[in-house]
Parts: sequence; C-alpha cells; structure tokens
Amino acid sequence: MTDKEAVCVGVRLRPFVAYEQGQQQCLTISDNVVQVDPSVAEQSAKAKVSEFAFDCAMDSTDPMAPSYVSQDKCYQLMAKRMVDHVLSGYFSCLFCYGQTGTGKTTTIMGKVEPVSEQGLLLRLMNDLFTEMNRLESEGSEVHCKVQMLEVYNEKVRDLLVPMNSKDGKDGKGRQHPEVHVHPKLGVYVKGVADEPVDSFENCVQLIEYGNTMKTVAATAMNAKSSRAHTIFKLMVEKRGGTDNTIVTSEAFFVDLAGRENEKTTKVSGERLVELTFINQSLMWLASCIQALAKPDSRKSMAPGAAATNLMSRFRNSKLTLLLSNALSGNSKTSMIGTLSPALANFEESYSTLTFASTVK
Ligand code: ADP
Ligand code: MG
Repeated sequence: MTDKEAVCVGVRLRPFVAYEQGQQQCLTISDNVVQVDPSVAEQSAKAKVSEFAFDCAMDSTDPMAPSYVSQDKCYQLMAKRMVDHVLSGYFSCLFCYGQTGTGKTTTIMGKVEPVSEQGLLLRLMNDLFTEMNRLESEGSEVHCKVQMLEVYNEKVRDLLVPMNSKDGKDGKGRQHPEVHVHPKLGVYVKGVADEPVDSFENCVQLIEYGNTMKTVAATAMNAKSSRAHTIFKLMVEKRGGTDNTIVTSEAFFVDLAGRENEKTTKVSGERLVELTFINQSLMWLASCIQALAKPDSRKSMAPGAAATNLMSRFRNSKLTLLLSNALSGNSKTSMIGTLSPALANFEESYSTLTFASTVK
C-alpha cells in the first residue's frame, strides 16, 4: 500500500482466549490473505468466498511464530503514517471494527503498562509528542487538543466530563452535546470541551479517565462489552517552521461498538435497540468510506463542501456526521477488522471479512 491511497484496510486475527480453548481454528493468514479453513467453508452455508485479500492481514494468533504481529508491529503497519499526516495538515481516521471480544479495544488502546502492550493510539501519541518536541526545538510552535466522545443510541456524550446519573446532565449541568453543521466551519460539536494536552503523560491521564466513563452493559457474549462507539479526536495546530505557515489537522481514533448479527445474537428489548442503532450506523459508515475510496466522489467532496447537500451522506448517523470532516476531501482512513480464530465465531468473523472487503 502506498501512502497516497486514501483508504487502507487491514484485519487482525487475535489468539484463542480462555473460553475458546479446544476449538478448531477456522481462519489462517499468509501474505496478507485470510484463508477460511476448507473443512469449515464446506460446512458453512454462508461462506461463499474462501480467501480474502487486504492491504494488511495481521496474524496475532501465536506470539512465538515469526509472523506474529505484536502491538508495535501493528502500529508500524497501520498507524505510524498518521504522525506525518497529523503534522502535515491531513485529516485522518483509524477505525477498529468487529464482533465484540475480538480485540478492538486491545488494538486501539491496549494497556499503558507494560509498554509492549500499548495500543495504536498510545503509540501514536508517544511518537507525536517526540516529533512535536523536535519541531519546537527548531522554532515551531505546536499545540495539541483532544476530545473523547461516546456515541450511544445516537446520543453523543463527552467522556472527559463527569456525568450526573440523576438528571442525565453532566457535571457542568449540560445535557448531551449537539452536533452542528456550520456553512463555513463544517461540522462541530457544541458542548464538548477541547482539552489541551502538552505531554504524553498528560494525554494518557485523560484517556484513562475517559475510559472509566464509558457506557458498558452486559451481553450474552462479553460481560463488559462496550455498546457505544468511542471516538478519540486529536486536533493539532503547527505554526512556524522554515516557511512560517500555519498547519491544522484532525485525527480520529474510533473504537466501534461491536457489530453482531441480529438473528444469531440472543437479545431483546433495550439490547436490541442498541444493536439496531449500532448496525445502522456501521452501514452508513461503510457507505461513506466506500465513497472516499472512489476518486470521483472524492473530487466532489472537497473540503468546504461540508454544508452543501453532499453532506446528506453523513447526516444519516451521528457517527458519520461527527467524522464527516475526516471522511471527505483529501483525508486518510485506516480500518482494522478484528477477528477471532475460533470456529464458534465463524459466522461473525465471516461478516467482518465481508464488511472489510467492501469498504475498499
Ligand atoms: P473488543 O474490544 O473487540 O470487545 P477486546 O480488545 O476487549 O475486544 O479483547 C477481547 C479479549 O481478547 C481480551 O481478553 C484481550 O486480552 C484478548 N485479545 C484481543 N486482542 C488480542 C491480541 N492481539 N493479543 C492477545 N490477546 C488479545
Ligand atoms: Mg472493546
């Protein structure tokens, strides 16, 4: 994949976890191709395709294997390029998509300690601050602000502000933030604070705080699965340098809510409402990324076109509306589909592979 491409699609196959021990492995990876085990493909009514090729197919099943893709390797392959994008004025997005329990949060966030467990966002922030310090020592001025938001059932919440559970307002007495479309500025969220960050440690503190504020609910699948999309937004402004210009950019890291098949997941009531919102917003997201991957439609979505009727594609869901600046014009998007190797999850994995194939 060359850096000029607008959309980079990868998949990551995690190891077996405790509750899958003893099951058959239904997917294998070699040379950026995911192969469905022939015996599994034969028995599945759904599996019409047995090989899926991606820009990057990452095998993280066996830490001892030479092909093992560690957190650092995953960062090098999928996210490191965003450091350059951020500092040279591109808008960029990175999404993790997949069934609950397949490694989305591990891939984006991971753990702060040990360092080897740090996910893509932490690694990017670390590299970015190193680079920002270097630029500042050369006379540039770089400012960095972040937001951490959650979209749950089409409502937006600021994860960096405490929530009062009694009146549904946050700690500053505000209701849910509203997404607005401005004729010149494009999309902005009213009622969300931009938090300035000046060091990696400072940024980690905010992320850890935001993580504790996430909406979690139990599903039959995973007791702590997040039913909301979590969006980390980074805003950078760079002044000075040899040509004394001002460069601004935005980058989004999105831990998408777990998509599950309505038919096979045993849910009802509130959980079914959640799932319907999740699946619909993911469908709209796919259509926006598909448009981004097609050069013709990118031309008609130049920056500033935000408030025109071209916006209609984004208005279908809060998620796409929030990300619209970064999903139009000259922006860079990466998507990682996360997969379980276990036979019991094959149908969902197959859906993830199909989805990931269609966004390109
Ligand atoms: P999701 O966010 O998609 O629901 P998680 O990131 O919470 O999934 O991962 C689910 C489980 O799988 C966790 O126990 C996690 O430690 C494990 N896991 C996920 N990805 C990996 C990986 N690349 N290597 C090792 N374990 C992983
Ligand atoms: Mg998660």
